[in-house]
Amino acid sequence: MPDTQTSRTVMRPSTLEALQAIVDFMPSGISLFDRDFNMVLCNRQFRELLEFPDSLFEAGLPSLGELALFNARRGEYGAGDPEQLAVSVVGRARLREPHAFERKRPNGRTLEIRGNPLPDGGFVSIYTDITERKRAEEEARRSASYLDAVVNALPQGVSVVDEALQVVLWNRAFVNLLDLPDGFLTPGTRFADVIRFNAERGEYGDVDPDEKVRQMVELASRFERHRLERKRGDGGVLEIEGRVVHEGGQSVGFVTTYTDITDRVRNAETIRRVRDLMSDAVNFSPTFIWETGSDGRYTFVQGMKKILGVADEQVLGTERGKQFCTAQCDRECLDPAAPCEKLASIRAHAVIERCTLAARRADGATVWLSSSAQPVFGEGGRFAGYRGVDVDVTELTLAQRELEQMALHDPMTGLANRRKFRSRFDLEVARQQARQGSLALLLVDVDHFKRVNDQFGHLVGDGCLRLIANVLSSALRVTDLVGRFGGEEFTVMLSDVGLDDALQVAEKLRCAVEQSSFSLPEGGLVPLTISIGVAVRSADDARDFDQLLEEADRAVYAAKHAGRNCVRAGGEISKAA
Ligand code: GH3
Ligand code: MG
Ligand code: MG
Repeated sequence: MPDTQTSRTVMRPSTLEALQAIVDFMPSGISLFDRDFNMVLCNRQFRELLEFPDSLFEAGLPSLGELALFNARRGEYGAGDPEQLAVSVVGRARLREPHAFERKRPNGRTLEIRGNPLPDGGFVSIYTDITERKRAEEEARRSASYLDAVVNALPQGVSVVDEALQVVLWNRAFVNLLDLPDGFLTPGTRFADVIRFNAERGEYGDVDPDEKVRQMVELASRFERHRLERKRGDGGVLEIEGRVVHEGGQSVGFVTTYTDITDRVRNAETIRRVRDLMSDAVNFSPTFIWETGSDGRYTFVQGMKKILGVADEQVLGTERGKQFCTAQCDRECLDPAAPCEKLASIRAHAVIERCTLAARRADGATVWLSSSAQPVFGEGGRFAGYRGVDVDVTELTLAQRELEQMALHDPMTGLANRRKFRSRFDLEVARQQARQGSLALLLVDVDHFKRVNDQFGHLVGDGCLRLIANVLSSALRVTDLVGRFGGEEFTVMLSDVGLDDALQVAEKLRCAVEQSSFSLPEGGLVPLTISIGVAVRSADDARDFDQLLEEADRAVYAAKHAGRNCVRAGGEISKAA
């Protein structure tokens, strides 16, 4: 007889024993009840899965009612009156219907419970712990929803086609970018149907849909990486890129991305057009554009050839600064050694605005350029060079210089006029003041010039004045200055001299004129002499030009009085007076 602790039945003992052996090997929990809902047998897994204590089985196998009450009391069926909960469990069993449900146990694990009525009454229940499976399913569901969220958030359209050429995944952007009607795609829609739909609505231009479908399916079946741009009917441009998905060395489909590159293409076209326009502007105007690196060497040049006669490629890598005659940089920079303000700003990496520079053409001619440039700063604000444009202003500069020449010089002799003489004189006073120097003003008056005019005519008179202007200029240092004061009178500024030196220079000038008579065209010479008045002052006292001039004028008067062709100093007169 089998152990009546685990069997209470009408079955033959040997059958029951065999059955017990079988169910004990099952991975699931199994319980078997007879038509009176008494348990006939159960396996170890059943008792373990449901955590039934051994005590429950001590007095033989429990009935369904006993088990249900035990479960109800330990909260297995949730809240409620345990007696009633147990009664309804037994009541459901009486319905004799197959059932399958999941029950989450108080210990957190999930059981799948399947029950089947037996032909001669009673029923069998199978309990499977599906906690892990549920967790895996939940995990898969969560990953799927993450994937969904990510894919749908992409600005690009994405579609996944499997090895059977069926569309298995796609996102909203894909539907929007391809203008597919709502509901057109369902999981498993054939790739061929998408192509056909597109072909029929003219997405590929004027093509035979059947032929297009055949072509595309043939291409897709090769499972090769591909990339193409497609211009759509509305002018938009899609970039389509397909990547093959491999699994275990096999192609199992491809992921295709669709990017709307309409703006990118349009921008590229705009950039190209702007670049062409700029190129034309540079090539057809007297300008060239350039870029230098932080070392001042050219990294880019366009249009230099027509201005400086050197090919753009030829100057790449050479120092820009070397192209310019720095001594002539800007007209204000008279002293080659003086630090030029513009050069200083280049060194300070500042913006350069219309800096006038003189450059030497390949053929040796001087070209004036108006240069404007922006400093370029790279990573971390580090100076990376300049980007600029140079405009050929040679004609303008020369015209300006001519105007200036006219405005500041005497047309007959080419000497500085009163205005220019005065401004240079003031500059020199300031310069000498800074170094505690002195300067001299000489007033030169031609002797008996009226007679020259009367005797030889005005044209000869003019020639004589030009000759004297020349003689005076040639006899002086470059730092001195001669001006035509008016009529037959000249002014001379000698910088950084004392009275003795000034008198010496004046005497030199007087001699030079005396020795250089004017040659008449018809032969014969016109002797010329000059009288010179000298005024010497320290720079501080020389600020009042008119006073100084008056002093020199008095000295000339004294020279005339002394018989002409001689030099007198203002100081001497005041002493004599
Ligand atoms: P003095 O020795 O006292 O200076 O005698 P002067 O004749 O030189 O003096 P005055 O001031 O009487 O005459 C100056 C003359 O210079 C008068 C004028 O005809 C002449 N003169 C002034 N400007 C010009 C000029 O541009 N061309 C010519 N040919 N003559 C000029
Ligand atoms: Mg005079
Ligand atoms: Mg005179």
